[in-house]
Amino acid sequence: MTERVLTTCVYCGCGCGCYLHVEEGRVVGTSPSRNHPISRHNLCLKGWHLHELIHHPDRLTTPLVREDGRLREATWDEALARAAAGFRECLEHHGGRGLGVLASAKCTNEENYLLQKFARTVLRTNNIDHCARL
Ligand code: SF4
Repeated sequence: MTERVLTTCVYCGCGCGCYLHVEEGRVVGTSPSRNHPISRHNLCLKGWHLHELIHHPDRLTTPLVREDGRLREATWDEALARAAAGFRECLEHHGGRGLGVLASAKCTNEENYLLQKFARTVLRTNNIDHCARL
């Protein structure tokens, strides 16, 4: 039996409403929400394929860190500590102008808001951009 779970498409900031179809614990399909005020029973091509990324074998499911030129799996604590050390080192040598941040339409509005706050107040840079900036 297929269960349908109402959610929001994560591919862009339009925020279309859709259902993910779940069978035996796996997401197997996507369909539009008839009553959603934005999408009104429509999805673009990306939205119709939303379910394909969830179980894709190439999807990153754990942090990776580079060691001797090769990527290896790491814990979140290690990856975040490495990232923080890299930010700190860059800030010391170049200031905020040495750093830049790329936001994503796959994040929620709230996450993108937090990212620009993080860039401006913690990293002290205005170098922030977003893939949906047209
Ligand atoms: S269905 Fe298309 S337009 Fe709607 S949120 Fe997803 S990517 Fe954006």
